[in-house]
Amino acid sequence: MKSYRKEIWLNVPERRGFVNITRQVEECVRESGIKEGLCLVNSMHITSSVYINDNESGLFEDYERWLEELAPHEPVSQYMHNRTGEDNADAHLKRQIMGREVVVAITDGKLDFGTWEQIFYGEFDGRRRKRVLVKIIGE
Ligand code: ZN
Repeated sequence: MKSYRKEIWLNVPERRGFVNITRQVEECVRESGIKEGLCLVNSMHITSSVYINDNESGLFEDYERWLEELAPHEPVSQYMHNRTGEDNADAHLKRQIMGREVVVAITDGKLDFGTWEQIFYGEFDGRRRKRVLVKIIGE
């Protein structure tokens, strides 16, 4: 069995944002040379997510509004966690909803997606460099 590991670095300049990382993960699959196997992609931070969905117009804005309704950033004083001096309790909660990782099958050297599936990074406490882990195993 072959195995491959790579860290993708991202720096979202705002507190929150979404990035399509599908091309970067496809590049990892090519680089790995693995034709049949599994590809794990996970955020290495507890205030950002990796998830699969469609790249349709309006979805980033809808996620942003929905997540702000569920766990608004302001007022920061509403969260117990922020009594530690941090202001990112909402980011921990948003990450929980949007998920930590995705696993995609690799078939014939390609990510074996459903029709509209793509891989996204969701940032909820940005303005700094963060990492996404790509781990691929197979033959
Ligand atoms: Zn925190």
